[in-house]
Amino acid sequence: MRPFAYTAARSVAEAVEALEAGGPGTRLLAGGTTLYDLMKLRVEAPTAVIDINRLPELNHIDTSRPTELVFGAGVRMADLADHPVIKRDYPALSESLWRAASQQLRNMATLGGNLLQRTRCGYFRGGPPFPCNKRDPGSGCAAIGGIDRGHALFGGSTSCIATYPGDLAVALLAFDAVVDVAGPSGRRTVTIADLHLEPGDTPDKEHSLGRDELIVSIRVPKTPAGRGSTYHKIRDRESYAFALVSVAAALRVSRRGEVRECRIALGGVGTTPLRAVAAERSLLGVRLTDATARAAGELAFAGAKAGHHNAFRIELGIRAVADALQIAKGRAL
Ligand SMILES: Cc1cc2nc3c(=O)[nH]c(=O)nc-3n(C[C@H](O)[C@H](O)[C@H](O)COP(=O)(O)OP(=O)(O)OC[C@H]3O[C@@H](n4cnc5c(N)ncnc54)[C@H](O)[C@@H]3O)c2cc1C
Ligand code: SF4
Repeated sequence: MRPFAYTAARSVAEAVEALEAGGPGTRLLAGGTTLYDLMKLRVEAPTAVIDINRLPELNHIDTSRPTELVFGAGVRMADLADHPVIKRDYPALSESLWRAASQQLRNMATLGGNLLQRTRCGYFRGGPPFPCNKRDPGSGCAAIGGIDRGHALFGGSTSCIATYPGDLAVALLAFDAVVDVAGPSGRRTVTIADLHLEPGDTPDKEHSLGRDELIVSIRVPKTPAGRGSTYHKIRDRESYAFALVSVAAALRVSRRGEVRECRIALGGVGTTPLRAVAAERSLLGVRLTDATARAAGELAFAGAKAGHHNAFRIELGIRAVADALQIAKGRAL
């Protein structure tokens, strides 16, 4: 283990000060389930670590506000997954957490850390001799032309085709969530849609937060479509695996079964979480049937670009969208 300085912040202001004072090698420590992992693999080698586990402002779940849900960034994944109001009114949110990682990890890992986890690309985590522009900018990308079974169908560039692996961000995107961020110039709000960045020429820059900013809370606008929602995750085995494709779907339907509100977000297939806007629009005012659900799935994957080993995930994704919509409809009626 390489030595690093450790500070336990006692307030958000102290954490921001410590981030500002530290150099570019400074990292926040929440549950540590990603950070320590990457340190052990020597992919990350922070010079300083700021522990944010003792900040009361980061540890609350508020479902009582009339227009939005509020979750502190330090809330453990297991606590939100098991919250009775979230389970009942926003099953997609609860399921995105239940279907992520293992119980031990969910007990430790936080919502903020989950949003900012790094890719599971094997070449990124494997280290040398594999080149990786995300780990070592300018070195190349071993996945392009290599084994790309789990890599992105959307949003890849000539520098990187790694998927964003998290589940929670996908469900949050379907609900138009935002994150509140604290930094040296005060507080600001970033939409989940703007939080994660496509790789372009700078795959090492994965999110739009400044080096000295931290996520304080996550806010989710309330919608009646929350009850008619699901997080449908397809993976190589039924537990403890990242998504080959995942779909967060939320529907509000009329008594006659016509779709009045439709939200669809895709995970596991893009370099960022993706919103399937054309698929959503195709269903408005329409009855959800096997045929319209399948057509929405085809629209969602219309722009998919397969590599050598991942074309099977396009048909898998189309079917996952159709299935997710049917599950959501069953809950919305
Ligand atoms: C075996 C395994 C399987 C997994 N499977 C899944 C899965 O199926 N789905 C899934 O979604 N995840 C999965 N994960 C990832 C896991 O959910 C994340 O490791 C976890 O959510 C990270 O949270 P943490 O609090 O431990 O973050 P940490 O490891 O403490 O931090 C992660 C990153 O976020 C930064 N950070 C943390 N909190 C903040 C904040 N408030 N503001 C700004 N930056 C912050 C840290 O500096 C660090 O860079 C898996 C992990 C493992 C090890
Ligand atoms: S896909 Fe991205 S993370 Fe994976 S090797 Fe290429 S540059 Fe690195």
